[in-house]
Amino acid sequence: MLLPVQDDDGAPFWTYAARGELRVQACAGCGEPRFPPRPCCPHCGSFDTDWRLMSGRGRIWSYVVPHPPLLPSYADVAPYNVVLVELADDPRIRLVGNVVAAPDAALDSVPAERLRIGAAVRAVFWDTGEGVTLPRWQLERP
Ligand code: ZN
Repeated sequence: MLLPVQDDDGAPFWTYAARGELRVQACAGCGEPRFPPRPCCPHCGSFDTDWRLMSGRGRIWSYVVPHPPLLPSYADVAPYNVVLVELADDPRIRLVGNVVAAPDAALDSVPAERLRIGAAVRAVFWDTGEGVTLPRWQLERP
């Protein structure tokens, strides 16, 4: 399994995910949210950050179903879906992830035929047992 690489800017995202919280970095100066995490606000230049709690609700903005040739770690689990989810709290923030049938379900647990652009999803959290809790997505109407 390929796991995310954590850096200093993004580490809080994973710490909150381990608590079952979806949080997005926001500027403590002007309040603008930003993703992916980075040290400086592109709007006002401030280095002060907050981590804003999101509802976990969103919609599928786009998705793909990758097919081989793929890197070996991905080829072993294909076919699967990769979704881009726009957050209900701020549709300008879009997160990449997978739609699954349950937090710990296999990557292919929801067939691609079930996915639709605009479908409502909610974040769920899977403790991989390898030191990372991954936010994933479940359809609101499976
Ligand atoms: Zn700012």
